[in-house]
Amino acid sequence: MTKLTRAWAEGSTPRAKIWADVPDEQWNDWRWQLSHRVNDLAVLQSFINLTEEEIAGISAPNKFRLDITPYFASLIDPDDPRCPVRQQVIPKARELAAFDSMMADSLAEDRDSPVPGLVHRYPDRVLMLVTTQCASYCRYCTRSRIVGDSTATFSRSEYELQLDYLRRTPQVRDVLLSGGDPLTLAPRLLEYLLSELRKIEHIEIIRIGSRVPVFMPQRVTDELVDMLAKYHPLWLNIHVNHPKEITPELYRACDKLTRAGIPLGNQSVLLAGINDSVHIQRELVQKLVQMRVRPYYLYQCDLVAGAGHFRTTVSKGIEIIEGLRGHTSGYAVPTYVVDAPGGGGKIPVSPQYLISQSPGHVVLRNYEGFITSYTEPTDYDPNAIKPLEEKAAKRPEPGQAGVFQLLEGKELFIKPQGFETIHRRNAIEHRLNRDKKKWIPYKKNGTATPVPAESADSAS
Ligand SMILES: *Cc1c(COP(=O)(O)O)cnc(C)c1O
Ligand code: SF4
Repeated sequence: MTKLTRAWAEGSTPRAKIWADVPDEQWNDWRWQLSHRVNDLAVLQSFINLTEEEIAGISAPNKFRLDITPYFASLIDPDDPRCPVRQQVIPKARELAAFDSMMADSLAEDRDSPVPGLVHRYPDRVLMLVTTQCASYCRYCTRSRIVGDSTATFSRSEYELQLDYLRRTPQVRDVLLSGGDPLTLAPRLLEYLLSELRKIEHIEIIRIGSRVPVFMPQRVTDELVDMLAKYHPLWLNIHVNHPKEITPELYRACDKLTRAGIPLGNQSVLLAGINDSVHIQRELVQKLVQMRVRPYYLYQCDLVAGAGHFRTTVSKGIEIIEGLRGHTSGYAVPTYVVDAPGGGGKIPVSPQYLISQSPGHVVLRNYEGFITSYTEPTDYDPNAIKPLEEKAAKRPEPGQAGVFQLLEGKELFIKPQGFETIHRRNAIEHRLNRDKKKWIPYKKNGTATPVPAESADSAS
C-alpha cells in the first residue's frame, strides 16, 4: 500500500454538522442514506451558506430533480460556492437558461430505441436503461429528459420488451446497463435483470454504469458484490469528476468491487469551473489508478437542457489530453469524446500527433514537441495475414461497416443522403450519360460491388 491508499483504507469522511449525531449503523446503511436525502431549501441552508443564485435555483419550479445523499452532501464545502462537489449537485438559477443548439434529447437516444429504454446504436452492443432513479442528481445530467422522474421509470412489461429484443438480436454481444442508476434498483429486480441477460447465450459481457459508489458507497456491500460476481464477465464504470469525490468510503467500495473480479473504469464529464484544468485532471486520473480504476472516457458536456453553464469549448478537452498523454501513465489517460449531437455516438478527439507523411516516412511529434520520423517498410505485405485472418471469428455489421469498409476496399464511397438527386440536377438523358455501366467500379476479386464481366472496358 502507499501512504495514500493506507489513509483511504483506514479513514472516513467527516459528516456535515446536521448529521453529526446519527449512529454509525444508520449512516453506513444505504437505505438510510437514500431515505434521508436532502432536497429542501431550509435543510440545505442549515448546513451550507447558500448564494442568492443557489437559493433561486433551489426554489425554481420545474427544475431538474434535486436530491443529495447525506454522505455526498458532507463533501460540500459550506462556505465556498465554487466547491466542485457543491456545483455538481446544488442547482443554480442559470441552469434554467436556454442556450443555442440545446435539446431535450441531444443524443437522439429515444429515437434510436427499438423498444423503450434500449438504445441500439452500435453494431454489437446496446445501452439498456433500467431505471430513471439515481442516488443523487447531477445538474448536467445528459438524460434529464427522463432521469429523476419516477413516473417515467421502466415497467415490468418494458423490461420484458427489452429482454425480448435482446434475445432475438444475436448481433448484440455487450449490454451496458444504465439509467438513471442501475445500482439503485431493488436488489431482487437488479438480480432478475442480470440473470435474464446471462441466460442469453450471445451476450458475452454485461457492463454497469453507476454513480452509486460515488454518491452512496454504503450500497457496495459484500452481499451486492457477491451477487454481481455471479454474473461475470461483468464490468463496471463509475463516474468521478473531481479528486474531491475520492474518499476512503469510495476507495473501500472500489476495493471490494475489484476484489470480486469486476474491472472498474471511470467516466468523467468535462465541466466548466469544476474540472476544466489539466492539473485537476492529472490529480484525478492519478488518484483513480491508485484505486485500480482505469480512466475510460472524458466526455464533452452534451447539448442538453440544464447543462449550458457547464460547457467548455472542445479545445479545452484537447488541451487536457495534451497535458496527460506522455506526461503521465498511459493507464491514467482517458479517451476524450464528443457524443455526437443527433445520435452519431461517441467520437474521439485528440491532439494531432501525425505531422506529415510521404510514401516511406511518417513524421510524428511527441508530447514534448520532439519530432521524429518513422521509416516504413518497403516490403510490407498486408495480404500475408489473409490465411490466418480466414480463421478469425468474424462478425457481420449489417449496414454499419462504416469508414472501415472504404479501407477494406469493399466500397469506394459513402454518400450523404440526397447526394444522387442533387447531383443529377434533373439531367436530360444524353449521349454522355446514357450508359450507366460506366459508373460501376471494376473490381478484381471484388465481393461487395457486383460488376458485369464486360464493364471494365465497355463503352458505347
Ligand atoms: C456509450 C454507449 C455505448 C457504449 O460505448 P463504448 O464506447 O463501447 O463504451 C453503447 N451504446 C450507446 C447508445 C452509448 O451511448
Ligand atoms: S448519476 Fe448519471 S443518470 Fe444520474 S443524474 Fe448523474 S449523470 Fe444523470
